[in-house]
Amino acid sequence: MRRNISDKKKRSPQPNLKHMEHVEIPFLLKTIPSSNGCTRCEGTGYVRVDVPYGDPTFGKAIPCHCTKAERDKKRLQSLRGISRLEALGNKNFQNFFPRIPGMPKVYLTAEQFAQDPDGWLVLLGGHGCGKTHLAAAIANARLARGSQVLFMTVSDLLDHLRATFAPTSTMLYDQLFSRLQEAELLVLDDLGTEQSSPWAGGKLFQLLDYRYTYRLPTIITADQQVLQTVDERIRSRLMDKSVVTQVTFDGILDYRLYLPPKNSV
Ligand SMILES: [Zn+2]
Repeated sequence: MRRNISDKKKRSPQPNLKHMEHVEIPFLLKTIPSSNGCTRCEGTGYVRVDVPYGDPTFGKAIPCHCTKAERDKKRLQSLRGISRLEALGNKNFQNFFPRIPGMPKVYLTAEQFAQDPDGWLVLLGGHGCGKTHLAAAIANARLARGSQVLFMTVSDLLDHLRATFAPTSTMLYDQLFSRLQEAELLVLDDLGTEQSSPWAGGKLFQLLDYRYTYRLPTIITADQQVLQTVDERIRSRLMDKSVVTQVTFDGILDYRLYLPPKNSV
């Protein structure tokens, strides 16, 4: 490619770079059929752009238009991969079993939130109380209406953020973080059980603080006992009644004990 550029310079007067903000060099030079038929990048998938010195893309190769469909597909796969909803796709309101003392109120609040998510919904309760099922039911209901939903445990979330720094990662840290910030509905399961380092704790706070400030629909599930160990700054946001609807699974022992036997339906 470099040889071509210098050949071009020899053959014709130097173009005025100030007026060439975003010109793809291979496209300007010649049209050569390539392996994928793209004459812009000659099949390499990348083009260099002619920009003035000082431009952030100066001297850099950027993805060619011909790779957009493939990149979009990968991004979607990547989102699906981290959403965790595939594993919880069978959890809905219909197969949730609300006929347990104390459950109907919790159930109704969750159903209302699924109709019109506003602010935060915090589901508090012990192990096996059904809070993950209800959170997944809301997430699946919103997904069915076309909302962009991300559902993950807090530990997985932090793992994914760390993994974006790996050389083999297909997603950049900034991309993932902004998707978490901007998701139409973000569900964070099991707050407080994550292995926290100062880095992880800082990232989690940054994410939650953003969603809190802009009142973005967010569901958080947590064990009440474990919640006491969570960062004070996060806990105070979970208590703010102007943003948060807090629901406690009071007196509900293990909702799975109340589920009808598998073959009884
Ligand atoms: Zn191309």
